[in-house]
Amino acid sequence: MSRTEELIQRRTAAVATGVATRGIYAAKAENAELWDVDGNRFIDFAAGIAVNNTGHRHPKLLAAVAEQAEAFTHTCFHVAPFEGYVKLAERLNAATPGDFTKKTMLVTTGAEAVENAVKMARAHTGRSGVIAFSGAFHGRTLMGMALCGKVAPYKKAFGAMPPEVYHAAFPNAYHGVTSEMSLAQLEQLFKTTIDADRVAAIIIEPVQGEGGFNIAPPEFLKALREICDTHGIVLIADEVQAGMARTGKLFAMEHSGVAADLVTMAKGLAGGFPLSAVTGRAEIVDAAPAGGIGGTYAGNPLAVAAANAVLEVIEDEGLCARADEIGTRIKGRLSAIAERQGMEAIGDVRGLGAMIAFELVSDRASRAPDAALTQALVKEAEARGLIILPCGTRGNVIRLLPPLTTPMEQVDEALDILEAALEAAVASAARAA
Ligand code: PMP
Repeated sequence: MSRTEELIQRRTAAVATGVATRGIYAAKAENAELWDVDGNRFIDFAAGIAVNNTGHRHPKLLAAVAEQAEAFTHTCFHVAPFEGYVKLAERLNAATPGDFTKKTMLVTTGAEAVENAVKMARAHTGRSGVIAFSGAFHGRTLMGMALCGKVAPYKKAFGAMPPEVYHAAFPNAYHGVTSEMSLAQLEQLFKTTIDADRVAAIIIEPVQGEGGFNIAPPEFLKALREICDTHGIVLIADEVQAGMARTGKLFAMEHSGVAADLVTMAKGLAGGFPLSAVTGRAEIVDAAPAGGIGGTYAGNPLAVAAANAVLEVIEDEGLCARADEIGTRIKGRLSAIAERQGMEAIGDVRGLGAMIAFELVSDRASRAPDAALTQALVKEAEARGLIILPCGTRGNVIRLLPPLTTPMEQVDEALDILEAALEAAVASAARAA
């Protein structure tokens, strides 16, 4: 029995089934490469789900964390605050879009950042309604899951959702949902279900992550900004997956020129250490009373040291420009593959910066999703040494999230593997049909 097989058996017996896992058991990782417990090498185009934007074990992050560990590893910010937290808050206040006075709170996970943004919006407006979008993913806590725009597996088994959460359609050009249609749904919601004056917040991912890398059109974000301004609604941009240089800008909202009132960040923020943040208009952030937000581990000193280093690395190594460079290479190659005969399964290639996805369809005309081929491709790629992730509300989108520090030779190597894996997956699907 291989080490992997042994670990799969032990995992199956010992770990909750609901925590879904893949079959690669990590032994070590360096920048864009990962080795499993049996010595197999992989190029990691998952990056811990958009977390290792600065690669695995970036030396500057490791040094910052080691230095912090020498001083102290935990005090609880509520008990004995420390400078690193304040410095990170100052940086995020300056870096997030919007020319207004901002403040920041740090927590630990993406879901927690979303929870706190909603709490701030409610405290500020004195209202309770929250509007999210179809296909959205905002986390697995009670409010996070209620905000998700997909039932299975996120909400299916878990009873009553928190009240006052509503959904409108996220625009999706490939599947015929225009910005106008989405805005009409929103207006309809205000007429039939909740008065706009009772809505505390509208929360949107500028590029949907789990939902399939759907890009919110700039005119849609502008229209949301206007609606929020008209009705005194807090606009929350959930940048947990799209933020931190992934899309070629520090924040994906920058592509639209729209500033949200609150921004949630996590994943790439601390390069693999658990940290998340809410940054936004000072008067909204400060609506939460002292003691009403925070937590024992919130703003862990090691994670904060990592985040301060991440922001420096993004700047020093020009990672926004690298995201564009890597993304252009990937998109070009995917478009070329899609034009090859026999590769009609690729229905759409899309993305911003190095947040790239392609949609697999059983028929280009009807755009019918092919979730089976998507699963097969993930397995074929893994067998050849490339880690990729599926996503999308129909389970038929492959997302590519390379570290922004991936050497171009490894980007090309990964794309060679991807092409071979796709050929194999298409061939075996044809044999099975
Ligand atoms: N928001 C978005 C946009 C996300 O992509 C995710 C994670 N996939 C979350 C929130 C939740 O983050 P976490 O898993 O850290 O709670």
